[in-house]
Amino acid sequence: MTSTSASTSLRNQHVVLLGGTSGIGLATARAALAAGASVTVVSSSTQRVAEAVAGLGDRAEGRTVDLNHESAVRALFEQVGPFDHLVYSAGDSLRTGALVDMPLEEWNRVVEVNLTGVFLASREAARIMVAGGSPGTIVMVSSVHEQIPWPTFAHYCATKGGLKLFAQTIARELAPKGIRVVSVAPGAIETPINRDVLADPEQKQAVLDEIPLGRWGQVPDVAQAIAWVASEQASYVTGTTLFVDGGMTLYPKFV
Ligand code: BGC
Repeated sequence: MTSTSASTSLRNQHVVLLGGTSGIGLATARAALAAGASVTVVSSSTQRVAEAVAGLGDRAEGRTVDLNHESAVRALFEQVGPFDHLVYSAGDSLRTGALVDMPLEEWNRVVEVNLTGVFLASREAARIMVAGGSPGTIVMVSSVHEQIPWPTFAHYCATKGGLKLFAQTIARELAPKGIRVVSVAPGAIETPINRDVLADPEQKQAVLDEIPLGRWGQVPDVAQAIAWVASEQASYVTGTTLFVDGGMTLYPKFV
């Protein structure tokens, strides 16, 4: 865990973190706690929630919720009490192959987790913020693939491209209420989602060749960006995407 400077303070603020039990989500829980926040970690697995929260200390609590279930998401926001920030980092990429081989069930699964889940959560969070006159932030974990096409991941790219305009559109709707909406888009990060690629030296190097800064990202790289985006330091930032990708979106192999 890297330290978070006082300038990205989230002291006395409450972060609801959907998909916070591993990888970038869990690192974000740690960064938010280090910045002084309390955190509610939410995921669909009771066991993963329990394991994550056990290591986070007494300003963290966990909830098990099916993030694609409308009434469950509504109940979650009714129960968590006052909150300042929603961070949505649940995501799925399912490597299923080219378009011609892509089963509908897998398309639906990726759309559900990556888009429907963020719609449901953002809607409930925004309803509460608007009704309570208590502006906060909505931070979505996107991907470089909201911009970079990625063969064999058409479903994933479709959801991340969709997320970009979803975030920008609701940023316009919510800005008059003082609510900020920002996407944070990681590149290649050493997380469980990349387990297979990281285990294969050739694939790992091939990805490295696409990163101008010359290293895979670490989860705190992204978590620190999310903590900053949520903080007052970023109070004039809305409706945009912050890429945390070591320069991957500069297309280094395109010469
Ligand atoms: C994916 C990773 C991938 C990275 C760069 C992310 O959105 O989840 O698996 O390494 O994009 O391609």
